Amino acid sequence: MVQSNSFRLQADCVVVGASFAGLACATVLARAGLRVTVLERKADPGEKLHTTGIIVKDAIDQIALLDGLPAELVHRIDGVRLYAPNLRYVDLAAPGYYFLATDTPEVMRWLAAQAERAGASIVYQKSFGEAKRTQSGFDFGDLGTAVATQPPGGSAGRTRRGPNRPNRLTALEHLSGDSQN
Ligand SMILES: Cc1cc2nc3c(=O)[nH]c(=O)nc-3n(C[C@H](O)[C@H](O)[C@H](O)COP(=O)(O)OP(=O)(O)OC[C@H]3O[C@@H](n4cnc5c(N)ncnc54)[C@H](O)[C@@H]3O)c2cc1C
Repeated sequence: MVQSNSFRLQADCVVVGASFAGLACATVLARAGLRVTVLERKADPGEKLHTTGIIVKDAIDQIALLDGLPAELVHRIDGVRLYAPNLRYVDLAAPGYYFLATDTPEVMRWLAAQAERAGASIVYQKSFGEAKRTQSGFDFGDLGTAVATQPPGGSAGRTRRGPNRPNRLTALEHLSGDSQN
């Protein structure tokens, strides 16, 4: 958890990386009411992706955020064939199971838009490597500085709930799809 002490960077959390994990995390945290800044070293979340772009059914079932994926960005397939370098392969398919082949660059841009719609701020072409450790947090240069704090409830993992003070538990509920939000 990072708390701003500067006029320029006003964030409760700074997320590094605007890809699947970072954008999902940022969206959940922003929806939970936290001020979130995402640092992404690329200029566009859809560029230079290292993925075949296939989403497994388990992810679709468990990650509520994916429910809203636009239909034109995904194509449902019943099985996949995985090839080894020696061209031996294994087919993966099971009754009731499926995969989504995606237009991954557009999925990433859609995820970024979701995060921003939730209130997260994404700063592109900004590497966390440029941040400098200070005694109490990080100095993000022209973005400002931030102070690391204990999560609500302290380091023991206790959580404090309230309309204006969401917590880690709330975020985990969103990620697992258990929350109504
Ligand atoms: C060849 C290949 C094929 C794959 N195919 C699939 C697949 O079909 N299905 C699947 O589910 N998974 C696949 N994967 C795994 C895939 O990498 C992950 O599912 C997914 O990309 C992980 O997302 P992530 O957000 O954790 O990390 P990443 O996608 O690696 O994203 C990290 C992000 O952080 C940014 N970043 C890194 N360091 C910094 C920094 N210091 N400052 C600012 N920004 C930074 C990067 O630019 C990037 O945008 C594949 C992986 C590979 C290598």
